[in-house]
Amino acid sequence: MDQIADRVLVAGTGIAGAASAEALLDTGRTVVVYDRTDSERLRELESRGAGVAAAEEFDPSLLEGVEQVVVSPGFPPGHPLAKAAAERGIETYSEPELAWRLRGPEAPRWLAVTGTNGKTTTTTMLAAMLKAAGLRTAALGNIGEPLVHAANGPYDVLAVELSSQQLHWSRLLAPTAGAMLNLAADHLSWHGGFDAYSKAKTAVWRGQAAVFNRDDPAVAALAEHANARSTAFTLGEPEPGAFGVALGHLVDYTGGSPVPICSVDEVRPAGAHNVANALAAAALASHVGVGPDAVARAVRDYSPEPHRNVVVATVPTGEGAGIRWVDDSKASNPHAAAAALAAYDPVVWIAGGQLKGVDVSDLVERFASRMRAAVLIGVDRAEIADAFARHAPSVPLVVLDGEDDSVMTDVVTAAAAHARPGDTVLLSPAAASYDMFDSYAHRGRAFAAAIGQTLGMNTAGGDA
Ligand code: ADP
Repeated sequence: MDQIADRVLVAGTGIAGAASAEALLDTGRTVVVYDRTDSERLRELESRGAGVAAAEEFDPSLLEGVEQVVVSPGFPPGHPLAKAAAERGIETYSEPELAWRLRGPEAPRWLAVTGTNGKTTTTTMLAAMLKAAGLRTAALGNIGEPLVHAANGPYDVLAVELSSQQLHWSRLLAPTAGAMLNLAADHLSWHGGFDAYSKAKTAVWRGQAAVFNRDDPAVAALAEHANARSTAFTLGEPEPGAFGVALGHLVDYTGGSPVPICSVDEVRPAGAHNVANALAAAALASHVGVGPDAVARAVRDYSPEPHRNVVVATVPTGEGAGIRWVDDSKASNPHAAAAALAAYDPVVWIAGGQLKGVDVSDLVERFASRMRAAVLIGVDRAEIADAFARHAPSVPLVVLDGEDDSVMTDVVTAAAAHARPGDTVLLSPAAASYDMFDSYAHRGRAFAAAIGQTLGMNTAGGDA
């Protein structure tokens, strides 16, 4: 049976949505495209033969005659469109699921990565490992080129980053091996709770092999029910069949004896969580026959992605000397912020944005003792301030009201006023950026630019 119907509605015209509509038109399907707002992209699709509709409210009559719906991650299960499709028994799925269904007999294999944090880092490390082994590959999915473009090559193996939303809207997608890195509260509003969020992520294990983080209790519990061969990774000593760390080295113990891969100190960005990411990537790569030598070469050559624990400035002399400014703008939930906060002491913490229904109390309580001060911004700043009032009333707080990127100048001024030599000023917001910025990258760039301006220094604020 053909897995892609003849008449498909594509909801959302972001990059992946538009690419989906194009791929469906290219294969002769009848396509209707819906978006909240009209755009040049929508009109381009219309000129290519798609029916188009732009309206703030979704009109269910658009589903008449439609057999399947391809949705962007912006459509949660409770969205009127998703509900109307479900009521009519119309199958709804994501762009990666469409890419999976477009695969022909020679299609590249997929190695997939999910988890609350570390997906992009692990996926790009994985692509580096596959490349080092001479395989044609690309890091795709939630990042890079749309997957539908690569469904049938020109690659041997794809390194695929999959979000919980993309996995929620999937049914057949079954990577050769899939890894779950960690699980912590995030996107709870979208999924309607932690259980639904976790369950969505288990779809990464629908294929032949499940790679899982043995050190994360929530992941390890789910892995017991994974319907696939499994490979564990751990920051402790590995058991036979697993990847882990021994005597300061990453170790592959999938053969008869443990094989050292490279030193823990060679992993960049530094930090235990990135060692875990590298182990996950190595475990995935092993499922397509990539061994320790190629993995080690890739780890040594790996260039970290921007806005993830990057030092943007260190003041050498004069006022503010010895203060380190770190951009971890990508930390859009407390679990990611915890990984960064664990690395710095004392720290002036810059946080806030959209909490997405997630509670920051534990984070505040756990790291309060190392905080010199906290600077709070964004739509949910009062919630974070409340957490400080309850758990860390003695930490000085600066709560800023700005509603756009111009607030960063005040953020930097406030942080500089509290920081002392030897401190780290850390932007690791524990929240999404869309209330005030276009993206986490925009937030990180605004931070670097404000540091440059306020302190009169050159800062590496670009994304290169
Ligand atoms: P994702 O694609 O899942 O958002 P990234 O690799 O882009 O993951 O990293 C997102 C944030 O999480 C960054 O702030 C990074 O420092 C942090 N991070 C990366 N890996 C981990 C991990 N294994 N555990 C906790 N935090 C992590």
